[in-house]
Amino acid sequence: MKSGLHDGVERVLFSKEEIEDRVRFLGKEISRDYEGKDLLLINILKGGVVFLANLMVSIDIHTSIDFMAISSYGPSTETTGAVKLIKDLEESIEGKDVLVVEDIIDTGLTLNYLMKNLKARQPASLKVCTLLDKAVRRLIDIPISYKGFDVPDVFVVGYGLDYDQKYRNLPYIGVLKQEVYLG
Ligand code: 5GP
Repeated sequence: MKSGLHDGVERVLFSKEEIEDRVRFLGKEISRDYEGKDLLLINILKGGVVFLANLMVSIDIHTSIDFMAISSYGPSTETTGAVKLIKDLEESIEGKDVLVVEDIIDTGLTLNYLMKNLKARQPASLKVCTLLDKAVRRLIDIPISYKGFDVPDVFVVGYGLDYDQKYRNLPYIGVLKQEVYLG
């Protein structure tokens, strides 16, 4: 490999083509389910941006987007459960059909916090679309309306997902080598 970008990756879990196919499928499902409505996609920075960008061009109904940022993993790969709102939405979601677009749901603690926060703002509907579901690690039940793939209990990077702000630009989703985070 000419750069060191792929060196930390143990194996590819989902190829670029597999992801693109799946994302197109989700876009069609969402377009069908929300037909006749104006859909607001809420994206969680930064891991979800690649997914959002590809998903929204696969949706053929009117959609708008807005962003939130919550503190999640730092350089460590273990979640603390403590989540903090770093950036809030620009507009009110009251009376709107809202779909939260997430990169990965692990313990569910982050999204649980977020959903409570959003529900209190009285949207017309509030659902979740996640690219990856690491269900084996779930601590809090989160209803998922749209899901890309199930993932095992491994630390994944690529297609927007980082480790210590790196690897987001991998075009596939891969498993990070343990030696990268164990040092
Ligand atoms: P949760 O609160 O569900 O445990 O954590 C969700 C957040 O943790 C995700 O939005 C993501 O930022 C991070 N996360 C959880 N598992 C992984 C993983 O395997 N890889 C990466 N890069 N981030 C993860």
